[in-house]
Amino acid sequence: MDGAVAALGTDCTIMRAVVVNEVDHYQLTETADPALVAPTDIVVRVTATTVCGSDLHLIAGHLPTPWGFELGHEFVGVVEQAGAAVRNLAVGDRVVAPAAPWCGTCQTCRAGQIQRCERGGIFGSGAAFGGLGGAQAERVRVPWADACVSVIPDGVSDAQALTVGDVLSTGWTGVREAVSAPGQTLVVFGAGPVGLSAIHTAALFGPRRVIAVDAIPDRLELALRLGADVTVDARDGDVVEAVRALTGGRGAEAVVDAAGVPATIGAWAGVAAIGGRVAMLGIPAGPVELPLGALQMQNVSIWTGLGDLGHMDMLLGMIAAGRLDPAPMFTETVAFDAIETAIADVAARKPGLVKPLVTVG
Ligand code: ZN
Ligand code: ZN
Repeated sequence: MDGAVAALGTDCTIMRAVVVNEVDHYQLTETADPALVAPTDIVVRVTATTVCGSDLHLIAGHLPTPWGFELGHEFVGVVEQAGAAVRNLAVGDRVVAPAAPWCGTCQTCRAGQIQRCERGGIFGSGAAFGGLGGAQAERVRVPWADACVSVIPDGVSDAQALTVGDVLSTGWTGVREAVSAPGQTLVVFGAGPVGLSAIHTAALFGPRRVIAVDAIPDRLELALRLGADVTVDARDGDVVEAVRALTGGRGAEAVVDAAGVPATIGAWAGVAAIGGRVAMLGIPAGPVELPLGALQMQNVSIWTGLGDLGHMDMLLGMIAAGRLDPAPMFTETVAFDAIETAIADVAARKPGLVKPLVTVG
């Protein structure tokens, strides 16, 4: 126990959480248990969490936030405490929370832009992002629980539900914005967790064909398992030529870019059909060059934005109905005690690893 925790006094109980203390330094350590702060809060006992690419950006200092924060924003668990004003949830409910909770009542939320809730933040991202607790922990306090938390239906596993709070919703958002009608061809750049989520939810929008593009063979195999009809290995040559060959020279009506790197952005105009739509989910590391003139001459529309996490109940319902099963994207299961290794493995891009399922408690 460190001095800060001891100073909180004897009333305070202790849990374990991953804390980022300085650049490139994270540790599973003891810290204070979260408590209810507002009557609309719940405290969740975490049963499963995972590691996300944005955790690595936080650890590396690419997303500046004061050091000493708990890490992780994807979790499922059981309601352990509920504030007096919580009506929809009860102690003992299995729940999933969105990576970025929202209040539901600010002007931005009321306008439907819950991703940018004026009071919101992102779990496990420190004071610069709302000062919320981390998901790589034994317990998390969740604000505005009635507005943003979903109860997990019977028959839906922790692994399946865990995807809904972030990657599955984000991939689904990209497909919703890119596919304008059934019967279209969809190209998905990047077969990491978000790209795989786009591929997996594409069936909900009735595409004719889903083409997955990546440069890692085992990810392309997983793409086929999760719903892609055909894959293009970017190492095999010109991706634009490959997609055009697969689409009779016309290009794809819908493009989801879950990579967001210069090579994929530069390929949009080549792979998109006339009148096509591109949804940009990848977050570029800095300013990028966009061949806007070429896109304009093809009447291509571009959508950018954050994942819409406001449809978790629908996605959970589709999983419960057997229409979706995103669990295969968890390519390994590790115990909470080994979470530091799991983070290091994701950072090192360990071959075969897409996303680790971390079981807690
Ligand atoms: Zn994430
Ligand atoms: Zn709000």
